[in-house]
Amino acid sequence: MLLEVRDLRVEFRTRDGIVQAVNGVTYSVEAGETLAVLGESGSGKSVTAQAVMGILDMPPGRITGGEVLFQGRDLLKLKEDRRRKVRGAEMAMIFQDALSSLNPVLTVGAQLAEMFIVHRGMSRKEARAKAVELMDRVRIPAARDRAGDYPHQFSGGMRQRIMIAMALALEPALIIADEPTTALDVTVQAQVMDLLAELQRELNMGLILITHDLGVVADVADRIAVMYAGRIVESAPVYDIYKAPAHPYTRGLLESIPRLDQKGKELYAIKGLPPNLLHIPPGCAFHPRCPMAQDVCRRDVPPLYEVAGERRSACYFWRETLDG
Ligand code: ADP
Ligand code: MG
Repeated sequence: MLLEVRDLRVEFRTRDGIVQAVNGVTYSVEAGETLAVLGESGSGKSVTAQAVMGILDMPPGRITGGEVLFQGRDLLKLKEDRRRKVRGAEMAMIFQDALSSLNPVLTVGAQLAEMFIVHRGMSRKEARAKAVELMDRVRIPAARDRAGDYPHQFSGGMRQRIMIAMALALEPALIIADEPTTALDVTVQAQVMDLLAELQRELNMGLILITHDLGVVADVADRIAVMYAGRIVESAPVYDIYKAPAHPYTRGLLESIPRLDQKGKELYAIKGLPPNLLHIPPGCAFHPRCPMAQDVCRRDVPPLYEVAGERRSACYFWRETLDG
């Protein structure tokens, strides 16, 4: 297994109290596999990723439990200098907003070249050539000329390609892409996603794709992990989830996708709001919004049941949910 996150817990100490952002997340990714992490805004997707990458704001953040096993070693136990090496070369992250992640006062060619100079000890000239090669690979037209441009001179889609190039530069084993296309136009979204998926396959990388867009997931992911209030509530191969969800929250998400063949029909929207992470409801955090909730759901936190094969559901009533 390339990455195994076990029972990860993260909280933030704020003026209002303790925000319990991640409450026991368990997921894994193999080489060559794409895991989509799905869930409403505020469910802890990004914070989990930051803890895995080692870029969590500490303080106010604090990892209070769990393990992050990357190629067998627990990253949470590594010293910061070792951790930084892993982060640069073996795992990389792609963010939603390229403009704030790239350096505005360096040309993109120089930024890409820097990776090869620092991590691979290349000469400036060699590194420049590698930078252009990489820009070509992410299909930036006229890469040689454009290497001398600054980030703001590129369109949103092209900037996102540059982010992908930065992340891939050192051929990491794992990429975490946090809503990589959310800020882009719909047509550009598909192109950037296709590119990312293609490179992931070519390089046999593990990819964690964080998204709230179920449409994207169906095309590129092998497995899905659905998050709610800082926990995984369901995880399974994509095909299984689309066929029949095993958690009422997943079902709500699936039924909220607009479908062309049902134009005009009212969309099922999950009623109510995601919980305040300062005061997570007792029992199953989803119970106040769940059409199937019983007393046990209001009282006890459900375990992540092994439904079948690789499928897991944190619902006491997964059987009933599967039966629809
Ligand atoms: P998402 O699933 O949308 O990516 P996040 O992982 O960003 O959600 O956030 C999960 C929760 O953690 C949110 O309630 C957010 O307000 C809280 N949080 C994230 N970063 C901080 C921070 N630096 N200080 C306090 N709370 C934070
Ligand atoms: Mg996020």
